[in-house]
Amino acid sequence: MNQCHHFSGFVNDTARLCNESKSIEVDVRARHGSRGKCSCCHQPGPTYDHLGIRRFEFVPFWGFMVFLLYRMRRIECRRCGVKVEEVPWGNGKHQMTTAYVLFLAHWAKKLSWKETALSFRTSWDKVCQAVEVVVQWGLAHRELGAIRAIGVDEVQYSKGHKYLTLVYQIDANCTRLLWVGKERTVATFEQFFDMIGPDLSGKIEFVCSDMWRPYLKVIRERCSNALNILDRFHIVAKINGALDEVRAVEARRLVQDGIEPVLKKSRWCILKRQENLTTGQKLRLRDLLKYRLQTVRAYLLKEQFNHFWEYESPTWAGKFLDQWTTMVMRSRIEPMKKVAKTLRNHRELILNYFRAKKEFSSGVVEGLNNKVKVTMRKSYGFRTFRITEIALYHVLGKLPEPEVTHRFY
Ligand SMILES: [Zn+2]
Repeated sequence: MNQCHHFSGFVNDTARLCNESKSIEVDVRARHGSRGKCSCCHQPGPTYDHLGIRRFEFVPFWGFMVFLLYRMRRIECRRCGVKVEEVPWGNGKHQMTTAYVLFLAHWAKKLSWKETALSFRTSWDKVCQAVEVVVQWGLAHRELGAIRAIGVDEVQYSKGHKYLTLVYQIDANCTRLLWVGKERTVATFEQFFDMIGPDLSGKIEFVCSDMWRPYLKVIRERCSNALNILDRFHIVAKINGALDEVRAVEARRLVQDGIEPVLKKSRWCILKRQENLTTGQKLRLRDLLKYRLQTVRAYLLKEQFNHFWEYESPTWAGKFLDQWTTMVMRSRIEPMKKVAKTLRNHRELILNYFRAKKEFSSGVVEGLNNKVKVTMRKSYGFRTFRITEIALYHVLGKLPEPEVTHRFY
């Protein structure tokens, strides 16, 4: 204990194994003649009296829970009056030592919260509490610095009925989650700009977003110097969404008409990128393309659109976009036409992708978006906004942690 958890003014005294509770108790006492510090002003003062013994949970050891037992002093502070002392290994609010809080939060980043609780024989609530403490400390101590590029994205949570707005920093040397907001309204996204203030907002050069109207409005108003880029990931997702709709409707119709169910299990053949198909799926696709189906025509349109991303010049990319949308408008495939119309309406913002020299490609936002989904899937405990928010900041926020003299992990 003296090697890894020692604080001046305090002595680690006797330790004993309690067989019944399978725990180790370590008595901690104040060094003779030392003065306790007031928990309000952090200044040392004379002891007024002693309170009952308090237990602080410490990092478990060889499968035993470990507790520090300490009789808290009350300090007669010149400024604040009689106050409970502050202890360097924890704070007055909860029963875990800081070392244990950091330990649990560390593992809760790698494992699910439930697995963390099981592994260290503690409760889900305690893991949650630990993560919350670490996240709050991190948010209070993080530096926002100069932010060059941000991405805004929405994600569904709580069984898909509710939305969150997520704002990421996507600079080349720093990608992290900056902010989480409830809903996906204008008011939501404005809160982010309120948080960082007009100074930082004015310095943002690029904003990647999808076509969600409230976001576009806020970007225009609060971040007018920045180039708003509609990123590739969201556009591709829109086209895939339309294609999937065409396929689903047609598949149902074929079944109703009693025709051979050629579209059965075709979903991933047509949605996946060609280079990612398995051999079986490739054969299946080749087979499928022989049929005169709406799905096949929509698929070919989707595939053609891939060339769009190969352009360097915004002008030529714009020409391609015009030709492609015209072609789709003539296709009489309604879901695809709807996408084409949307793309036409956002022509300039889409071409900003090329104006930014593809610097802020979808890869970053897509990667973060996937991480968010994995984090949310990892625990079915994240039903409330607050818990989801904490979990996301913890995993994706790259938050600073308090300095410690010894790491227990
Ligand atoms: Zn004081």
